[in-house]
Amino acid sequence: MADEPLVADEPPVAGPPVAAEPAVAAEPPVAAQPSVAAERTVAAEPAAAAERTVAAKAQHTTDPERLQRRRSGRAADVPDLVGRASNRDPRAVARLVSLVEDGSPQLRAVMKAIAPLAGRPSVLGLTGAPGVGKSTATNALIRAYRRQGRRVGILAVDPSSPFTGGALLGDRIRMQDHATDPDVFIRSMASRGHLGGLASATPQALRVLDAAGFDVIMIETVGVGQAEVEVASLADTTIVLVAPGMGDAIQAAKAGILEVGDVFVVNKADRDGAQQAVRDLRNMIALAGRGESAWNPPIVATVAVRDEGIDELVGKLDAHVTWLESSGELIRRRRARAGAEVAAIALAVLRARMGALPGDGRLSRLAAKVADGELDPYSAADELVASVSPDS
Ligand code: GDP
Repeated sequence: MADEPLVADEPPVAGPPVAAEPAVAAEPPVAAQPSVAAERTVAAEPAAAAERTVAAKAQHTTDPERLQRRRSGRAADVPDLVGRASNRDPRAVARLVSLVEDGSPQLRAVMKAIAPLAGRPSVLGLTGAPGVGKSTATNALIRAYRRQGRRVGILAVDPSSPFTGGALLGDRIRMQDHATDPDVFIRSMASRGHLGGLASATPQALRVLDAAGFDVIMIETVGVGQAEVEVASLADTTIVLVAPGMGDAIQAAKAGILEVGDVFVVNKADRDGAQQAVRDLRNMIALAGRGESAWNPPIVATVAVRDEGIDELVGKLDAHVTWLESSGELIRRRRARAGAEVAAIALAVLRARMGALPGDGRLSRLAAKVADGELDPYSAADELVASVSPDS
C-alpha cells in the first residue's frame, strides 16, 4: 500500500493500540496520495479534496516534528478518521477499511472508537456462480434502495484470490451507475496482512460501514463452495442467485448453500427454463433439510438487466429482516457472528504467540525435533500450548 507506509511497514500482529499520535493529520494531500483506497472509493474527489484542505488548515501547527509526521502521512489520526467517517465522509470510510484490510496495529483503537456507533444496518450476503448476474443484480438493488432513500454500502470479497479477484468484482459494480452518489460506498476487500484473514477482516469492515451510517450493507462474494457458506455466516440475510440452465441449483446443493440461503433468486428469468429453475430450486430446498426454521425461503424470479423483479426482491428481503427481528434470530445471528470474529482474532493472536509466524523459531524447533524422532507430536503440541501464556 503505497498510501499507507506505516501500515505496510508494520507486521500484522496484535500490538498495543497505537495511541501515540493523536494529533497527526489523518492523511497527506490527495495529490501526494495516488491511493488504491481512493481509486476504489466512490467519492466525490473534488469535494473530498476541499474538505481535506479545510481540515488541514484547521489542524495548523508550527511544531516541526509534527509537521514532518503529517507530511509523511505515517499514521492515521484515529479519532479524526472515526469522526469524519461517522459524518459520512467517504474518504475517511475508505481509509478505515484500508486499515482493516491491512491489519493495521491501529485497528484496536479504531474498533474501540466505533463500537458505540453501531447502528444495526441490514447486512445482506449475495452469492452465486460467476456470470449469474451478481453485479447486475447488486446494481439493481442499489438503485432500488436509493429510490427509498436508504444508504448502501457494498463490500466485494474474494477469499479465493485475495489480491486481485475482489477488486475486479468491486470495479464491475462501481463502473456502472453509482460513481457520483455519496450515499453509495463500494469497496473491494482483500485480506492482505490481516491478523485473522477475511474471517475477521470482513466483519470489521462491516463495523466500519455500520459506524458510517449505512442502512443496508451488501457483502458480495465470488467463488464457489466454502466462500459462499462463509458469506452466509456474516450476513443477516443471505441471497443465493442462480440462473436457468446453468446447473447452479445443483452446484448450490453440493456446496451446502441451499441450507443457508434465506432468499433465492432465479435471475435471467427472460431466458428459457426460468420456471423450471424455480421448480427445481423449490424441490431441492425442500430436500435440503433446513431443520425446523419457521422461515420458508422465497424464490424470486428477476431480470436484473431490466430491473424486473427487483422491487419484489427488496420486499422479500425486508420481510426476512422483519422475521429475523420478531423471531429472535437476528440477535442469535449477530451474536454468532461476533463470536466467530472474536474467535478468529483470538486464534490469530495465539497462533502468533506459538511462533507459527515467520521470524519466531519456536514451532520450527519443535518441528525439527518431531521430524528427527526426538519428540512425539503430542508432546511437542503440549509444549507449544504451554508456552502460550500471557507472559510468553
Ligand atoms: P456476475 O459474474 O455474477 O457478477 O454476473 P454479471 O452481473 O456480470 O452478469 C453476467 C452477464 O449476464 C452480463 O453480460 C449481464 O449483462 C448478463 N445478465 C445479468 N442479468 C441478466 C438478466 O436478467 N438477463 C439476461 N439475459 N442477462 C443478464
